[in-house]
Amino acid sequence: MTCKICSKKIIGRRDKIFCSVKCKNYYHVNLRKVTDRVVQEVDTILHRNRSILLEIMGKRKGQCTIDRIVLEKMKFRYKYHTHQYKNSKGKVYYYLYDFAWMEFSNDSILIIRNSPS
Ligand SMILES: [Zn+2]
Repeated sequence: MTCKICSKKIIGRRDKIFCSVKCKNYYHVNLRKVTDRVVQEVDTILHRNRSILLEIMGKRKGQCTIDRIVLEKMKFRYKYHTHQYKNSKGKVYYYLYDFAWMEFSNDSILIIRNSPS
């Protein structure tokens, strides 16, 4: 077996994948960098999505409907949400932090703002 990082021959236990603590740490630090970047990208999309909903809702409380095309023009990314909930009628609510949205009709979206309680 050779080290995953420096390719040196590994001495010792057969299941070892690094030759030293140094190489092991190097691997984990760099792996974390990749993970952080992915997390950051998703965070950015989620925050942008929330900003779009916030902009549409403005100072209004409660809920409003909007044409899907408007959201699309604002580059809203439907796939990204923080969690989802299906009600007893089978309607799915997609949450974005303190906001939620659902498909109101084929071409309109209902946006709901959940004021913190
Ligand atoms: Zn090594």
